[in-house]
Amino acid sequence: MKHYDKNLKKENTDKKLLVRAGLVAICSLILLFVPIILAVSLPMKDWQKGLLVFSGGIPAIIGLFYAVELERIAGFYVCKNCGEKYVPTRKAMWFSLHLGRTRYMQCPNCRKRSWQKKTLKND
Ligand SMILES: [Zn+2]
Repeated sequence: MKHYDKNLKKENTDKKLLVRAGLVAICSLILLFVPIILAVSLPMKDWQKGLLVFSGGIPAIIGLFYAVELERIAGFYVCKNCGEKYVPTRKAMWFSLHLGRTRYMQCPNCRKRSWQKKTLKND
């Protein structure tokens, strides 16, 4: 019972982490694109446009790094081939194709590549 409670607690924490990852990613994309749109559409000097894009782009990149890190540590990815559940490395997260939260990665257990789904359950 105690073990079950612990899993459930981690599951809830991970759910919150994923929601936060999504929010951070959306805010980062807004920060990235709004200054670019403004720079293109408003009459400004080039250095002002540059500064505007730069001031949005830097926090946006930091935000995206943070969002991917949150997504990485929340829950597990499940290998389609052998069913291994694992937390991928940072390198695997950044250099993998993804559709939403499903990623094309190599399993650390059977070494096969497949589209792996995120799960919050560890049972
Ligand atoms: Zn596997």
